[in-house]
Amino acid sequence: MDIARLYELQKIDANMEKVRRKVAHLRRKLDEPTALQQARADVAASRAAVEQFHARQLDAELNGRQLAERIRESERRLMSGEVRNAKELEALQASIESMKRQRSQVEDVALDSLQRGEDAQRRLAEQQATLTNLEQQWKTEKQALEEEELKLKRMFAQLKQQRQGVSERLSDDALTLYRQLGERKAGVAVAAVQNGTCSACNVSLPTGVVSSARAAVGQPVYCPSCGRILFAA
Ligand SMILES: [Zn+2]
Repeated sequence: MDIARLYELQKIDANMEKVRRKVAHLRRKLDEPTALQQARADVAASRAAVEQFHARQLDAELNGRQLAERIRESERRLMSGEVRNAKELEALQASIESMKRQRSQVEDVALDSLQRGEDAQRRLAEQQATLTNLEQQWKTEKQALEEEELKLKRMFAQLKQQRQGVSERLSDDALTLYRQLGERKAGVAVAAVQNGTCSACNVSLPTGVVSSARAAVGQPVYCPSCGRILFAA
């Protein structure tokens, strides 16, 4: 069994896993930032407020004009001498007073709506500027992330090709052992011997095991602690 080649396969798989994780991490970062979503919602809310105050203002102004017209008409009647009955005259007078009070209220509403509309408009302009900034920032950031993602995808394709090449030169038995062991050992079937220890579990190996791994011809030597195939350069 070609342990050196199996170890090569293991290194490729480890790199592929690393790239896969990086891509997953990048994907999460590609979600639109909360601050940007919030800024967009703020702009929408202020825009709605501007429209609402504007509508309220127009409504009040229209009311005011209608009241003014009715007041003019009542005053004309009052002055015209058409109404002679004292009670009717009194009622007409009272109605004019009442309409004038209403008009005053309506004018207050119109002015208040105008001011609040202007406040909302100012707020909207500020929020719009913030949103534009954040959008620009995010565009730049996103571009960098997408370039990084593309790089990683290319890297992944390369590794896949390498893996194919190495796999082709391994026996079916070796590949089956590698796969089965990997499934039980968190994806790591082969561990290098480093300074007399197993690189996967960090346990110090008996010298006999190290020399067997070094001399290994055909038969895999396993780490007595974690059970992985040992590769000694
Ligand atoms: Zn081990």
